[in-house]
Amino acid sequence: MTTSHQLPALDCHAHIAPDVTHRQLAALGDAAVFAVTRDLDEADAVTNRHDKKLVWGIGVHPALPAAVAAYDPDRFRALLPHFAFVGEVGMDRRTPLDSGRAVFSDILTACSDRPVLISVHSTGRVSAVLDELENKRHVGVILHWFTGASRDLARALEMNLYFSVNAAMPDTVFEAIPRDRLLPETDFPARTVRAQRPGHVDTLEDRLSTVWGQGIQDVRYRLWRNLKTIAVDSGAIETLPENIADIIVAT
Ligand SMILES: [Zn+2]
Repeated sequence: MTTSHQLPALDCHAHIAPDVTHRQLAALGDAAVFAVTRDLDEADAVTNRHDKKLVWGIGVHPALPAAVAAYDPDRFRALLPHFAFVGEVGMDRRTPLDSGRAVFSDILTACSDRPVLISVHSTGRVSAVLDELENKRHVGVILHWFTGASRDLARALEMNLYFSVNAAMPDTVFEAIPRDRLLPETDFPARTVRAQRPGHVDTLEDRLSTVWGQGIQDVRYRLWRNLKTIAVDSGAIETLPENIADIIVAT
């Protein structure tokens, strides 16, 4: 049986290049990392990879105009069965509201009956993103780096969504989100988070330990348990890479 002190660090949203080498990945240590991609070319490029510690995502980064403009619904649907994880997707103020909404809405439609986890970005478009998620419910949704006002947070909690949080976010957010709805992330290489590498969640776990009044090992165990719940509820447990699923099942 796996005990909490044996659990690796968990990172539910980090950016890793599709051509990352095995040598570079070795530097991540034991960490289990959900690696997002930015467009369908990148997603296509990772379908042949088998990296033990990574869960690769299929993404259309909403802050990148080129990725949004190049979105192809048929290509997304053709690639989707290769993935247990969808990310990074969502909406952002840096791309037009109409096309951003159309792309995100189509992605949610394509994912509606699929056993996947979905990492959703909402910078500057929080209520539009929540509108779409309300119209197209999916139990695998994880709001990444959510910066909505307390009214938005209440709405997201009402929908039973999960949140991946990082060390650049204030304690007030960690206090406001129920601990069974929380997952860890680095959003590496976002500089404001100061994570030295994907999976480097030490600072975040320290902060959660203080906020929750729990030891570091209990914090890590709680975060893996949360992943287990959403992975089982969404069905993603059946499609996640085997060694990651093994850790989850043993948790
Ligand atoms: Zn990101």
